[in-house]
Amino acid sequence: MSSLDPLVKPIPETVDIAIIGAGPQALTLVTHLLQKKASLRDRLVVFDRAGTWMAQWKQQFGALEIPHLRSPAVHHPDPNPYALRAFAANRPSELFPPYDLPGTQLFQGFCEDVIERWGLGDGVIGASIRDIEPIQIEGRDRFRLHIQDHPPSLARRVILATGGGPPRLPDWLAEIAPTYPPERLQHSSQIDLRTLHLGGEEILIVGSGLTSGHLALGAIRRGARVTLMARRQFYEKLFDADPGWLGPKYLKGFQAELDWGRRSQMIQEARNGGSVTPKVLFKLRRLEREGRVQFLENCQITRATWNQGLWDIDCDQPQGSLPSFDRLWLATGTDFDIRKHPLLQQVQRRYPLETVGGLPQLDEHLRWGKSQLFLMGPGTALQVGPVARNIYGGKLASQRIVPALTKSSLARVA
Ligand SMILES: Cc1cc2nc3c(=O)[nH]c(=O)nc-3n(C[C@H](O)[C@H](O)[C@H](O)COP(=O)(O)OP(=O)(O)OC[C@H]3O[C@@H](n4cnc5c(N)ncnc54)[C@H](O)[C@@H]3O)c2cc1C
Repeated sequence: MSSLDPLVKPIPETVDIAIIGAGPQALTLVTHLLQKKASLRDRLVVFDRAGTWMAQWKQQFGALEIPHLRSPAVHHPDPNPYALRAFAANRPSELFPPYDLPGTQLFQGFCEDVIERWGLGDGVIGASIRDIEPIQIEGRDRFRLHIQDHPPSLARRVILATGGGPPRLPDWLAEIAPTYPPERLQHSSQIDLRTLHLGGEEILIVGSGLTSGHLALGAIRRGARVTLMARRQFYEKLFDADPGWLGPKYLKGFQAELDWGRRSQMIQEARNGGSVTPKVLFKLRRLEREGRVQFLENCQITRATWNQGLWDIDCDQPQGSLPSFDRLWLATGTDFDIRKHPLLQQVQRRYPLETVGGLPQLDEHLRWGKSQLFLMGPGTALQVGPVARNIYGGKLASQRIVPALTKSSLARVA
């Protein structure tokens, strides 16, 4: 049996450290925590609705047929930065230029190796958390974790590592009568290229990020013609955010900034919306010359009408010869607003916390106010910076959370 097979593990009634989510960020936290204090092993419980490590990550990379990561080989869940390179020693063809970007299979194999080496193979409990309720028991603060189809668990400390927010959907969507087949209008997170036959189809993809690029290349491989539309110009960038954001070069100034609003602005400027890697843009430009892709830039849909089996599109910058489309794909990213997080409604009432642009003002250990709840992922950006949602953001977050979980002087004891 592989280390990633789901094993049915009972859900404990009480938990010391509950980690919700078993993606790359949670895996990073667990390895860093065990490295610091191995005795915590029996006090941690990881919950994920999938019941295994990395399920969402694997689904995303498989569904978009992504050949390799955008981030370099030192970005991974093991505390040893060179561990992935060592793992790849006999697989050099799976490190892609520039900067040795790990191939998808290599990265997945490496994460399985991490899970095995750290003895985490049976470490995930298959449970979907529905809500987190702060309660007091005998004068002590605890969290009641409400679990789908199961009695609740009681946790002393909680780390929320549930990844990104819900799909960001454009306004014009609300105007469309729901008479179209659902597979003809989808957000990128719903699309699985592996299941599609698209020969001869016209597909309109909205969004200027790398996901648009992956979807376009996948659709063209299946014989479709693609129109890529964005409200800005498509532009190329190697990484999501400049590598200066991984260390003191930019983080020092960011953390010295005491104005949270200014920090939020710095994050937006650093990420600067979606971008495509030079390699993917090069491929798309070549396909443009072959007539298989067209780019519509500085252009937004104002109305989409489902008309006799095809989409008719109106835009704010009318384009000469816009065809009718078989499918509309929205590669418009996700909307992260902590105020709307479904698991944090009761926590926010019990422990009110200021937010800026939907991001909470966590303390330096990524702790939610005076509670024993910690965040990982996009919600930590005001402390961790623009790479908060990426794999490396998991490392930066772990460096802050681990001391608070292991040093009694940093714990807030209720
Ligand atoms: C297509 C794509 C490519 C990317 N490529 C890169 C890259 O190359 N490099 C990089 O650094 N970053 C990349 N990212 C960004 C980021 O690294 C990944 O999204 C990564 O998966 C984030 O890890 P995570 O652990 O925060 O979240 P996830 O991988 O989303 O894991 C969260 C987990 O939480 C579980 N969960 C959520 N809610 C609940 C609940 N209520 N109860 C129980 N379980 C729950 C989910 O099942 C999921 O398994 C990419 C993102 C996408 C979408």
